[in-house]
Amino acid sequence: MLDINKDELKKDYEKKFLELNGKELRDGADLQKYEALGMLVRDYVIRAWINTNKKYKNSSEKQVYYFSMEFLLGRLLGDALLNLGIRETCKEALDELGIDLYKLENLEQDQGLGNGGLGRLAACFLDSMASLNIPGHGCGIRYKYGFFEQKIIDGKQVEVSDNWLRERNVWEMKKADKSEIVKFGGEIKTETINGKLMFTHVNYEPVLALPYDTPVVGYKNEVVNTLRLWSAEPVCNEFDFSSFNRGDFLKAIEYKNSVESISLVLYPEDSFYEGKKLRLKQEYFFVSAGLQSIVRDYKKHGGNILELEEKIAIHINDTHPTLAIPELMRILMDDERLDWETAWRLTENIVSYTNHTILAEALEKWPVEMFKKLLPRIYMIVEEINERFCKELWNKYIGQWDKISRMSIIGDGYIRMANLAIVASHSVNGVAKLHTEILKKKEMADFYYLYPKKFNNKTNGITHRRWLLKCNPELTNLLTETIGESFIKHPTDLENFEKYLDDTNIREKLAQIKLNNKNKLATEIYNTKGIIVDPNSIFDVQVKRIHAYKRQTLNCLRIMELYNRLIENPNLDIVPRTFIFAGKAAPGYYLAKNTIELISSIAHKVNNDPRVKDKIKVVMMDNYRVSLAEKIIPATDLSEQISTTTKEASGTSNMKFMMNGAVTIATLDGANIEIKDEVKEDNIVIFGLDAEEVLNYYKNGGYSSWDVCNNDLRLMKLTTELIDGTYNVDRRRFKCIHENLLDYNDEFFVLKDFDEYLKAQDRVDKLYRDSSNWQRMCGVNIAHSGIFSSDRTIKEYATGIWGSEVLYKNL
Ligand SMILES: *Cc1c(COP(=O)(O)O)cnc(C)c1O
Repeated sequence: MLDINKDELKKDYEKKFLELNGKELRDGADLQKYEALGMLVRDYVIRAWINTNKKYKNSSEKQVYYFSMEFLLGRLLGDALLNLGIRETCKEALDELGIDLYKLENLEQDQGLGNGGLGRLAACFLDSMASLNIPGHGCGIRYKYGFFEQKIIDGKQVEVSDNWLRERNVWEMKKADKSEIVKFGGEIKTETINGKLMFTHVNYEPVLALPYDTPVVGYKNEVVNTLRLWSAEPVCNEFDFSSFNRGDFLKAIEYKNSVESISLVLYPEDSFYEGKKLRLKQEYFFVSAGLQSIVRDYKKHGGNILELEEKIAIHINDTHPTLAIPELMRILMDDERLDWETAWRLTENIVSYTNHTILAEALEKWPVEMFKKLLPRIYMIVEEINERFCKELWNKYIGQWDKISRMSIIGDGYIRMANLAIVASHSVNGVAKLHTEILKKKEMADFYYLYPKKFNNKTNGITHRRWLLKCNPELTNLLTETIGESFIKHPTDLENFEKYLDDTNIREKLAQIKLNNKNKLATEIYNTKGIIVDPNSIFDVQVKRIHAYKRQTLNCLRIMELYNRLIENPNLDIVPRTFIFAGKAAPGYYLAKNTIELISSIAHKVNNDPRVKDKIKVVMMDNYRVSLAEKIIPATDLSEQISTTTKEASGTSNMKFMMNGAVTIATLDGANIEIKDEVKEDNIVIFGLDAEEVLNYYKNGGYSSWDVCNNDLRLMKLTTELIDGTYNVDRRRFKCIHENLLDYNDEFFVLKDFDEYLKAQDRVDKLYRDSSNWQRMCGVNIAHSGIFSSDRTIKEYATGIWGSEVLYKNL
């Protein structure tokens, strides 16, 4: 914990500002004030960072490296201040200078190097590892352009590139001396030297991997871990313009562009896989750079390569970094001269893998031809891994060719990344109980049968430091006033809050805090969308990626139905509601983009109809991202978690909402089940098909969405309204949604769950009217959210997978 008082901080800040800008603080622009504060905080962090690195070098503690294509960090200033323990001090110091800290925090660009839940999980894990004294570091790509910025124009999503590095990034440190070379293409020369096979890579295209380090500050514990993001650059001496003739000059430009494209942009698909060569290049690029630097560093400090498995753990976040497996084999065999068996044993013991989805369209597989050409040596190793694995299968499953070809790593002309990840790692985990069960019993049943001990569950979590302490200071104050501060280090201590819920005074305070947060969000909505919403209405929120399986369309249909009812009966007695949506669609995902248009059309119709103006409002907010989530979630009454059961592996926004005292309406999917187990049935609203029913329909058929529709007058009317001009003069506008629901038999059971969903929403209406009981429900949710802190998740990874020393025991 940083020991600094208000006056010192004030002095440091004024000095820093002067140094950076050559003028007095009072003459500065707000952005300059933010940058100066960021630089100052970075200075504070650096001392602890250096000490932490020294400590790691001199200790024999296992270092964990979390490899991920995505890190969705959001803003860092507020969290760094919080974790240093000086956010309050800083706020007071700045107040005295006439500066609003929160306003400065708001000026920071989000670090949007991720799509959604998977990237945000990686960010929460970094925070928890640092806060639990675990030497755990991130490894990823420093995309020049992060996830696109979304503008909603005329009801449609418009993508604007996210030039997040335009302003100075005060958090990163370029480490040119830690660069690595990554090799693409070329050929492999094989020769025998002293009776040993040697492989030499020739005629390859070299790419310089340049690391940028960002500090990851632990909570009041002096620990600062490292997130290392790699940028792709041309190798210098290959690129000396002056010495080129015209032909070489063009070639040089081509080379430069081809290299720089590798870390240029994040692919904006979530839960969807596209076999693009550039993506394969990205995957190998950061994995190779990361591993080379880890091994180099390890050896530099005298590490014995044969003990590598005791000193490092490599975790791969989904299959995107799976090439870590053959790359580590390559380094161990070609560079370190170990034999296959030894390299294999080390690799298997070092690498562990998390599966994030069972959606078939998300499973990565690379065409053999493309792979071989781009990564010739890595291909040889994958081929050898596969041959050895298949031999094992032949001996075990004599004559069971179907099974063997299903399990094979290479098949049908593709390399299957999940198969490779399972075969070559020592641990495979799912991200919620249901998800892990489905992996074991269905999706990966063959592998589970072969390697039952590898499979385990690690239910996701979120860092309560960002998602409670930082984003909801008023609620945090109420909690510390009632139950003390122990929950900050031990989040399950939040349970102590439950006994205060009998106190009507406390329940009223909860209501007041929620109302204050709703007022703030209402202002934000007015400022950004020009829509006036009533803070006393139910804030009914669905914010997440737009995707068919998440069923924003189900939400749309029930709003359309409610609107119809209100028009028919203007005296209909309902608690007023504000429906809030936010989320990005992948640019090539037509159905998802069409869904945004539908939401916008409903908003347009409803918000401009004076007949319903005191009852319902619909808002589609632009550009959903971490910093917006931090504003919406504390202001939410009702959290919509309505994915088709079995499709949402875990979900994490469900946990964020719960922790901020929202009640959840949910299907029994992903971690919703575990939330229900915690708060019990009275404090959550459940509806819809269960996993068994859904899996049964998928397996045996028997569902007809036409039948469901034809037996429900409401659905007949609503589906017609999609195509009769009610919501758009262009009748073909929402034809795609209509077709998916009816002609293509509603893959995600929207119509099937519609009736139960409406009934569940009626229950919400009734529950909300009993304000005192509603507040109790909110309180119970808060009290039972501690288990969903990513601190719990990370402890489980540390002890159950990584075998890291558990220094946090004495926290
Ligand atoms: C938490 C979070 C997500 C994940 O939300 P789900 O509802 O679990 O899919 C996505 N995007 C952002 C910005 C988040 O903070």
